Amino acid sequence: MSVTDTHNAYDFDADVLRDKYRAERDKRVRDDGNDQYLEVKGDFSHYVDDPYVEKGFDRDALTEELEVLVIGGGFGGMLAAARLIEQGITDIKIIEKGGGFGGTWYWNRYPGASCDIESYVYLPMLEETGFVPRQKYTDAPETLAYCQVLAEKFGLNDLALMQTEVVSTEWDEATCRWTVTTNRQDNLKARYVVHSNGPLNRPKLPAIKGIGDYKGHTFHTSRWDYDYTGGNSHGGLDKLADKRVAIIGTGATAVQCVPHLGAGAKELFVFQRTPSSISVRNNQPTDPDWLGTQKSGWQNERRTNFESLMTGAPVKEDLVSDGWTEAFRRLFGQLRDEAPSKLKIAGWALGGAFDKNMYQLGPKQYLMNKAMKHMDIERKIELADMANMERVRARADEMVQDKATAESLKPYYRQFCKRPCFHDEYLKAYNLPNVHLVDTDGQGIDEFTENGVVFGGKEYEVDCIIFATGFEVGTDYSRRAGYGISGVDGLTVSEKWSNGLSTFHGMHAKGFPNCFFFGPAQSAFTATYTFSLDENGIHLAHILSEAKKRGATRIEASAEAEAAWVQTIIDKARLTADFQSTCTPGYYNNEGHVNVAPQNNFYGGGPIEFFKLMKKWRNGKLEGLEVRN
Ligand code: NDP
Repeated sequence: MSVTDTHNAYDFDADVLRDKYRAERDKRVRDDGNDQYLEVKGDFSHYVDDPYVEKGFDRDALTEELEVLVIGGGFGGMLAAARLIEQGITDIKIIEKGGGFGGTWYWNRYPGASCDIESYVYLPMLEETGFVPRQKYTDAPETLAYCQVLAEKFGLNDLALMQTEVVSTEWDEATCRWTVTTNRQDNLKARYVVHSNGPLNRPKLPAIKGIGDYKGHTFHTSRWDYDYTGGNSHGGLDKLADKRVAIIGTGATAVQCVPHLGAGAKELFVFQRTPSSISVRNNQPTDPDWLGTQKSGWQNERRTNFESLMTGAPVKEDLVSDGWTEAFRRLFGQLRDEAPSKLKIAGWALGGAFDKNMYQLGPKQYLMNKAMKHMDIERKIELADMANMERVRARADEMVQDKATAESLKPYYRQFCKRPCFHDEYLKAYNLPNVHLVDTDGQGIDEFTENGVVFGGKEYEVDCIIFATGFEVGTDYSRRAGYGISGVDGLTVSEKWSNGLSTFHGMHAKGFPNCFFFGPAQSAFTATYTFSLDENGIHLAHILSEAKKRGATRIEASAEAEAAWVQTIIDKARLTADFQSTCTPGYYNNEGHVNVAPQNNFYGGGPIEFFKLMKKWRNGKLEGLEVRN
């Protein structure tokens, strides 16, 4: 039976698909949720050793007073420092556990590593640096090289303490400074501390029977062992020619490295629990003439245009025009035709749709209108989503010769339940005779042995197991950061947030003066993560330059401002939980346990609305912050 609405006729049975999605979800939800993963410490800590530095680095411990200490040398930390320097605040140090700048891009150098957000929006400050990315989608080596361009432009290399891990940060009320200690015995007294430690920085492993027993070679994708595999981020894994290799996981990382593993390994076994959606990527070389003709402000305009499309906000044209924007245009386009200026769709990827004007009517009227209109809107979005996913599933049939393998590679969930992938070689890799998909039908592998991996009663003996099992999300903030944070009267962030996040603008927290968080939530969620990081940097620089003008030494969110902001987040987070509870488990929906406190969400009005709100707030008054000299 086909489904028809006023705009589109779809050639699928929505009820059948809905049932299928539910069944696929139900068979994956596990009681242990996030506890199915093992914390990478103790016997497993070698999984996070840095393979990219020479062993034996040493330096003298530092004892120093300084103005701003930035924790994290990824894009967030770099942009924080750059934006501060632009405002004349230069007494800065950046602590980074890796051997260089780059954060995500420092660690994730696996073969094929690349960003599928367009480089012209992803790489921040392109106008300031004049850098021209080689392609529409930049790869990991170019991104890492760009981090050095930024570092040199702003003199960040001189400010950095590399290969250094923060151990603790403690507030000292008497001096109004943070005492920061490190694993290199540094003792730093910083007026301000910026926590930019990355949302996906801590690798995770499946807590499966026998994981400690395997005797072969093993590593996580974020610590790729090129000594073992040969080759580099561009591929050429020549040392695997006589090796049988297993890769666990088929998320965005695995999708990029599987084609290279397939090309290099004697035999490759890909253990899949849930297939990713794989759409067209179509990378293209950059036309330097085009970049040269862009007017001042083009990058901000372009990334704003992109993120607006991601949230269904009206735009005159689609500047980026790629797989992401096409998916969203298909989801939301027809709705805009119906209510051109009124409709506002909340939450990229989150499926929640609401009419902003309805929201402004007040709770009762809002609920009545919502009930009537929301069903209609939601249904249209759902059907458009199903149509998008039918295209994704058809692509598996087109590209994969073996019918059973093609079937296994078809994802049955709504596209933004999981991180969508864009790749033109991944599906084809399964046509190679040495590449074998082991479809665990949503259950995951059974156990490890000394020799390999067991699934369905069969042992797959391999020389090497590669974990493409992702990163911790949703665990305790300090655990993910890797250090403790103790504020006023010794209150820790873990204690403060034990029942749910509580911040002002996602950046400040009462009880943690002079402390700035980049990204735990309650701020903007952007597909282009560097966009939010840059906005964070701009916001921080405004606050600290105002504080400097006033000769302030202590800045803290007021209890009232924080409570009001938490309420705003709750009010705006209304519909996402409904959507997420229909999704297959993953880190987007707390592994299927959508019981998170509503305040743990990002700002539900979407990033562009959030950025406008922050820009308006930056009027020099620092409202909501208690500023003391
Ligand atoms: P993910 O968390 O997305 O994927 C982890 C994979 O491991 C999933 O396929 C998961 O299956 C699987 N898995 C977990 N446990 C088991 C098990 N016991 N048995 C079998 N499989 C298992 O991590 P990634 O590193 O792939 O990606 C993390 C994020 O990094 C992405 O979401 C994206 O935001 C970003 N990224 C972006 C890229 C880009 O721009 N193209 C590239 C790479 C990463 P299941 O789905 O069933 O849980």
